[in-house]
Amino acid sequence: PLILGIETSCDETGVGLVRGCELLGDEVASSVDQHARFGGVVPEVASRAHLEAMTPTVRRALDSAGVALSDVDAIAVTAGPGLAGALLVGVSAAKAYAMALGKPLYGVNHLVGHVAVDQLEHGPLPKPAIALLVSGGHTSLLLVNDLATDVVSLGDTVDDAAGEAYDKVARLLELPYPGGPPIDKAAQRGNPKAIRFPRGKWGDGTYDFSFSGLKTAVARHVEDADRGGEPLVVADIAAAFQESVVDVLTRKAVDACVEHGVSTLVISGGVAANSSLRELARQRCQEAGIELRVPRPRLCTDNGAMIAALGAEVVAAGLPPSTLDLATDTSLPVEHPLAV
Ligand code: ATP
Ligand code: MG
Ligand code: FE
Repeated sequence: PLILGIETSCDETGVGLVRGCELLGDEVASSVDQHARFGGVVPEVASRAHLEAMTPTVRRALDSAGVALSDVDAIAVTAGPGLAGALLVGVSAAKAYAMALGKPLYGVNHLVGHVAVDQLEHGPLPKPAIALLVSGGHTSLLLVNDLATDVVSLGDTVDDAAGEAYDKVARLLELPYPGGPPIDKAAQRGNPKAIRFPRGKWGDGTYDFSFSGLKTAVARHVEDADRGGEPLVVADIAAAFQESVVDVLTRKAVDACVEHGVSTLVISGGVAANSSLRELARQRCQEAGIELRVPRPRLCTDNGAMIAALGAEVVAAGLPPSTLDLATDTSLPVEHPLAV
């Protein structure tokens, strides 16, 4: 079946077309530039941008896939988690398409979509797999027994998400928003050993994460340098901050694989685009004999193809479609790949 996926949980209007593990079309319209001067996503601005981008983005996705709207067999849409107003635009559009086409509607989980998208690049995900989801709003370790029906949360951040930490530290260093890409770039010129920043929840025996202490340590370092009239070595701070983040993330992800006897690790979400995370994960997975799967960066950040990919799984599992009463859920738990 041909699945149309619609994603509007944050600031990307994403539309994807997928058949099984085959990616046919993937178009994204982002309002990120409209949020940059605020240093974060402004919900009302994002909602309005989704409204304007929805129809043209669906059109472009259909055109690039070379299919017609009437070829679509089912509609999948992000039901949550995400921004209330932004989610509402996508869910309303999906209902309209489902009703107009007379095709089933599936409200799916954005976070599980971030994991499911890997299948479009690397084929069916071995069961079970461990997933490290690292994005702007989430940092979770998941035991994925089945993408459509059985996802278990092993741990979460107790404060800031990894991407959020990048964005906040970038602001301290006067780098542009979103902060991930400029910190990644600056870090490549820096010495990660120049400063020793704390590693939150290191070796605490859980799969939880904490990044707010790290952010505070960077802030204190910047203040001290200012007060002492010393020049800020942005590249070194970026490198040391990044090492602290990726060291904990990769260590706990590999530990989870070993403890659960799982031989596949998927890393996804916007922070999975990070070059140092990809490299350290590659090394540590190789040492531990774990197969590492990381989708290409374009599929790691928000897109519609990930929602279509999860929709395809849900359809294949034979789960009942959502009704036209489908509600958005800003905090849909990751244990619910399909919203009820
Ligand atoms: P969520 O999926 O939790 O709702 P989101 O959808 O806003 O959050 P994504 O679009 O998946 O998050 O990712 C955006 C985040 O990824 C931003 O915080 C950004 O700074 C970060 N990011 C992007 N590229 C990189 C990079 N190269 N290194 C580190 N972080 C990065
Ligand atoms: Mg985004
Ligand atoms: Fe996301």
